[in-house]
Parts: sequence; structure tokens; C-alpha cells
Amino acid sequence: MPATRVPRQYDLVLSGGTVVTLDNERRVIEPGTVAISGNRIAAVDAGDKVETSGAHRTIDCTGCVVLPGFIDCHNHLAQSVIKTLGEGLAVWDWLSKLTFPVAHAITTEEAVAGTRLAAMEAARAGITFVVDNQYMPPDPDTTTGVAGAIESIGIRGAVARGMTGTRPAAMAFRASGSRPNHYTTEAELEIMAELLAGWSGDRMVAVWPGPLNIAFNDQELIAGCADLARRFGTRWHTHCCESEGDPGVYRQAYGTTPVAWLHSEGLLGPEATLAHAIWLSEDEIAMLGEAGAGVAHNPVSNAYLASGNMALPEMLEAGAVVGLGTDGPAVGHRQDPFEAMKQAVLAQRLRAGNAAVIDSETILETAALGGAAFTGLDAGVLAPGRLADVAVVDMSGPNCAPRQRVAATVVNSLTGSNVRTVVVDGQVVVEDARCVQVDEDEVLEDAERAISNLGDRVGFDRFIRWGARA
Ligand SMILES: [Zn+2]
Repeated sequence: MPATRVPRQYDLVLSGGTVVTLDNERRVIEPGTVAISGNRIAAVDAGDKVETSGAHRTIDCTGCVVLPGFIDCHNHLAQSVIKTLGEGLAVWDWLSKLTFPVAHAITTEEAVAGTRLAAMEAARAGITFVVDNQYMPPDPDTTTGVAGAIESIGIRGAVARGMTGTRPAAMAFRASGSRPNHYTTEAELEIMAELLAGWSGDRMVAVWPGPLNIAFNDQELIAGCADLARRFGTRWHTHCCESEGDPGVYRQAYGTTPVAWLHSEGLLGPEATLAHAIWLSEDEIAMLGEAGAGVAHNPVSNAYLASGNMALPEMLEAGAVVGLGTDGPAVGHRQDPFEAMKQAVLAQRLRAGNAAVIDSETILETAALGGAAFTGLDAGVLAPGRLADVAVVDMSGPNCAPRQRVAATVVNSLTGSNVRTVVVDGQVVVEDARCVQVDEDEVLEDAERAISNLGDRVGFDRFIRWGARA
């Protein structure tokens, strides 16, 4: 490769760090330079091979690892309002006793305040794109408000608008509990079509159809959402087989299982993005792989709610597109992609009883490349021409010493609080570990006020064992 000596005035240069490119050769360049022009990466190479004089701005990344920005494939940012509550409840109880009552009571303003808090935390942890499955409250003004809240922090995303539609046959087989139910299937699809038709493709945050859960949405709503995604060139997103009981409930109602049904209807494809996908048969895993469908793996949430352990190596082997998600502040309590990566590795080793079943490099590929494929984003790789979404993370602390195998350090030793600088679309969003496009104190105060009011109305006190609610 000839040296890149063409004089060029880059807008932003990240110099001196250890650049983990995730490119086709999986190059690690140390010290390396990432040069950015506009919203794209212009050069990635050894420091002495990129002519950076005249750059508009240079950030010294000495002692840091420079990574593609992280893509959180499944989140519910507004659930920051119930953070720390409901511990010990399994998925369905957690939904019906805590989450759905909050979904009924929360206002748009409260949801927006909670979303901004979590999006700010996500940005600080190196997340540059978040798939936010928004459903509380479920009106389209909240969808728009939540998208704006994410954009206000400076990161990208897709708001998968959560829908429930007409009560389906499968609900009759549920033991207990209710679900948010505001619109018929027909009305939901109309609202969604209108939102998609009016949404500008230039925005940092897209909207996707997000029927909440295959097991408690009717099939017409799911098919309608898949159809809208194809018509408008988006993904669609849903929870799929998170609970062990879901396939059985579905089988009783429809005589089949969710993924097998999607496959039989021709609804699996890259635009289908399924959260969890834990309780699947081998045949269903093969179907996901064959279709190139997306799966958002949420290892922290799955452990927190004791939902189960997804067959990650088998999914990857089958060719499914797997990205990582945090599944929201209420089940992870940190918007932390490093925690998600580490937990994914640890859980798979325990599941297999085999420490060799997955390694740090593979989970980093899953997070970066899988996340980009899942969302259809031209990112996840530090290479010329790709979107300039970058996370710079401090490795100079004792937690990273000695650093002998960089991927293992990234996955096992770093946390989101080690992130120093985040660039999205060529713009600096986080600097010295603080979000610079918003007033952080104001975001925190707004969220605390909203959560306090909501907590009084819903009665959050009953979920607290020690001390008083602050
Ligand atoms: Zn979820």
C-alpha cells in the first residue's frame, strides 16, 4: 500500500490511539490515525502515513483504543423511569405488574425526559446508534418526541414504534396479566403508514414498525408491519420468544411457532429484526440463517430476568445476523455495550460448559459488524468511505494493564465509563466523557422531576425494600 501523502484538510483527526478497524483484514493499527471529512471516514492508517497538517481539529487519542461506535440493537430508553424497580420478577410478571401499568400512566413529556436521560448515558458509553422500541405511551406524538430526544443528544437511531393492535387469539392462553392496548390493528397500521410517509430520510433517527411481541400481537398486525417495512425500505422489529412459554402459547393458538410462521409466510428477511429469539428450535435457527434475518441478543437482560440463554454460536453458525442490545435501563441498569459483550461471552461459556465456545474477537465482530448489518447502517467498520461513527476509549488505567490482546482488553476490561470521546456523523458528541450537544445537568434534572411525579402517581414505593425513594 502506498503511503497516503496527498495533502488534504481533514475536518477531524483522531491520532495516536490503537485503532481496531474491524475491516476485512481485521487490522489493528498502533499508533493509528482516523481522519474524517464531513460525515465520512476519509483515511485510516498508521500515524506517519496520513498527512494531517491543516486538519480543522485533532484529538489526541494516546492511551486509548479507537473503535467503531457501538450499535445497540434493542432498547427501551424510556424505561429509565423504572430503573431499579421490579427486581426478582420474571418477564411476564415484570411486564404486567410494573411495566404495563407505567405504560398506561406515563405522559409523553415524562417518556421524552426518560429517553433523553438514557440516550445521554448511551452516548457517553460509546453507543452511536440505538434501536429504541418505544411503546409508552403508544401515541404517534410520543414516537416523534422520542426520536427528537435521541437526536438532541447527537446520536443516531431507529424508533421502532411499539404496537399491540387487536387482541389476538394467543392472549386467551396467557395465565394472567394484561397488555397495553390502545388501537385496533387497522388503526395501528394506518398510524404507522402515515408516520413513515411523512418521515424525512435525512433525519438521524428513523422510524420502524415495531409490533411489540409476536406472541401477543395478532398475525395480521405482524404481516402488516413487515409489509410496511418493505414498502418504506425500513426494518421492522419485535420481541420474539423471550419467554419460555411463548412458543407453547403460540402453538396452542395457531398450531405453529412464531419463527416457523414468519418463515412460512415469507416474512423473514433482513428487514425482520427479532429481539431475544431465545426459545427456538434448531429448525427455526436454520430458518433465521437462511433468511438472513436479524436477531438482537440481550445477554444482560436475559440473565437479569432469568429469561434464558440464546443459542448464540449456533445462530452465528447458521448465518443469522446477530447484533447486541442492552434491552433498556430497567433490566440492565447501564447503557453499556462493554457489559453486553462480556456477559454474552460469559453466558455462552456457562451454557456450553466450554470456555472455548466463543472468544473476544468473535463477540466484538458480533457487536460491530452484526450491529451494522442488523440495522442496515453503513458503519461498524473503521475504513475510508464508511460513516464517521467512532468511540475512543481510555485504556491507560490499571484495569487495562497489562494489555496484550486488544480485543480481550476491550471485551473483558473496559466499561462504558472508560469512553472519552464519541463521534457521530463526523460530529463530536462526547468529549472528556461528557455529552457536549446538550446541557447534561438539565437533562438529568428534567428526568428526575418526571420520574418523581410518575412514581407518585403509579406508586413506585411498593417496589422498594430499603430506604425511601429519592
Ligand atoms: Zn425488550
